Amino acid sequence: MPPIRVLPDRVANQIAAGEVIERPVAVVKELVENSLDAGATRIEITFARGGKHLIRIEDDGCGMTPDEALLSLERFATSKLSETDDLLALRSFGFRGEALPSIASVSRFSLRTRTAGARTGCEIRVNAGKLTDRREIAANPGTRIEVAQLFGPVPARRKFLKTDATEAAHIIHLARLYAVAHPEVAFTLIEDGRVVFRSPVCRDLTERVTEIWGRRLARDLMPLSVDMPGGRLHGLIGRPGVGRATRQEMHSFVNRRPVSSRTLDYALIEAYHTRIPKGRYPLAFLFVDIDAQAVDVNVHPAKREVRFRDEARVRNAVLTAVLDALRQAQPGETESRTETGQRPEPDGRFQPVDPLPKIVRPSPRPDSGPSDEARSPQGGSPAPPDGPLPSPEAASADRKSAPPPAADRSITAPTEPAPRGLEWRFVGQVHGDYAAFETRTGLVLLRIASARARIRFETVLAAFEADAPGSQPLLVPATLDLPPLAAATLEEHRAWLNEHGFAIEEFGRNFYRIQAVPAWLSPEEAEAFLRDLIDLMAERGSTFRGGKSRLAEETLARWAAERGPGRGAGAADHPEALRDLARRLMACRDPLTDPSGRPTVVELSRGELERRFGLR
Ligand code: ADP
Ligand code: MG
Repeated sequence: MPPIRVLPDRVANQIAAGEVIERPVAVVKELVENSLDAGATRIEITFARGGKHLIRIEDDGCGMTPDEALLSLERFATSKLSETDDLLALRSFGFRGEALPSIASVSRFSLRTRTAGARTGCEIRVNAGKLTDRREIAANPGTRIEVAQLFGPVPARRKFLKTDATEAAHIIHLARLYAVAHPEVAFTLIEDGRVVFRSPVCRDLTERVTEIWGRRLARDLMPLSVDMPGGRLHGLIGRPGVGRATRQEMHSFVNRRPVSSRTLDYALIEAYHTRIPKGRYPLAFLFVDIDAQAVDVNVHPAKREVRFRDEARVRNAVLTAVLDALRQAQPGETESRTETGQRPEPDGRFQPVDPLPKIVRPSPRPDSGPSDEARSPQGGSPAPPDGPLPSPEAASADRKSAPPPAADRSITAPTEPAPRGLEWRFVGQVHGDYAAFETRTGLVLLRIASARARIRFETVLAAFEADAPGSQPLLVPATLDLPPLAAATLEEHRAWLNEHGFAIEEFGRNFYRIQAVPAWLSPEEAEAFLRDLIDLMAERGSTFRGGKSRLAEETLARWAAERGPGRGAGAADHPEALRDLARRLMACRDPLTDPSGRPTVVELSRGELERRFGLR
């Protein structure tokens, strides 16, 4: 065996480059992060032919002295870390001191830099890891790094690159993400001499997103901002009902670094469950600012995948925050906030001709996550949708009394700290299926069937969640004759059903008697409901086991909502009934979507109307 030797730096760097620099976009990432670490307020990214031909990053950051500049090209030279202890407290992007030497070892590299204090700057040129030139030059304060002929010295690596268009797409995507994560820094991206985007210093995230993705996307988003233990969650998330066909528009950032995190993705997807249609994905710019010690960014050398020390805590924080934000969403809010920079005025300025009574929405309880089984339905539960269904509270208070008239049912939560008002003026019924309302911020079209489904869904869900759910005894008990397998399934869940308003007794072998059904279920529907339910339980198996799972409740509630009392298509409704419907819908926890995630209301804002009529 040949003797052991230490690898020459050049070879070591080229090996390191294989890890850190997989493709052109990785160079852009390392250089942009360095510029941000250097405190730049302006970063210009230029690239040509997918970055294979040229990548140039110019910043107005702190720059380097000539000595520092030379040193920066040494492996493991970094100004960002001295002791291993620092590793834990690190907040800057880079810290390995590997990027510059790695990049310089596989390209034709040049670095021009000047500190604000120095009168001149210096330029260093390196070719395939060999220093070729070093001189004093005139330069602006800051740093400009050029990487030409990437992987020229290692042709084998060049073969792995995709087409120019693909590599370019990666660079553009990454540049957008960093720009979004740093609205306070001006970003310019130039591809093959053409400006892809140029965004000056922005006031906030909304402004930056509007700059880069356009007003249309910004209008689909709403702000999110909450403290979480040891950190803060903020950003912009899709309004209820706004979904995307792919996962690509869920953007997560941890300490302002674009990352991918399964935990964050799944929390988002779960929060939007039933708020966007099945098979669609949320839209989000989600920022987690958290103690650096609570994250592990070292999972991957390219540092994109992150792990949290306490994944469950982060997941719950995101879930709760997003759910709360979604529940508080009102039509038209984003529009008025992004365009005027403030929330709509409190009640009183706009006097509708035919005002609806003010609706006060209950505030979600601070602990209300989907895993919160003890949530009480009072306050949050809407009145039941159609005539004969008493509200769960009323039914459990007095089983035999007739349902109270609609006006008596309280839809006002006494605990609401800062009431949010809503005044809609009924304009008319449109094509039978829709109700039109004038609101302070525009025109709302409500889809009647979807609104009913949402209200029924929440009524049923509230009944499931109630400790003492409403129940109605049947004058003539219904009988249920089941095949053996179905009987076994029912047997498995019978106790749970009986806790939720049913009274089902075994009457003989595979033969049952239904003595009572929940208040939300009409007696005529009882048998069909139970048969469908048994099928569902058999199909879902473990999801239903233990019965109490939220998913089981939601599945049942959705079933009930979809099977809700029908109405003839295009039937005319009484205006008062439609006003009442809007009122009850907006008292729901998630008023803006039906149980399958489709919108219940569509708003045309005044701004949108003015735009359509060419007034803006
Ligand atoms: P790291 O970022 O991990 O420290 P790099 O190889 O990316 O390692 O950079 C090495 C060092 O060069 C940095 O620690 C920093 O001191 C200096 N440096 C790199 N880029 C810049 C820049 N754009 N402006 C100022 N200093 C820079
Ligand atoms: Mg770096």
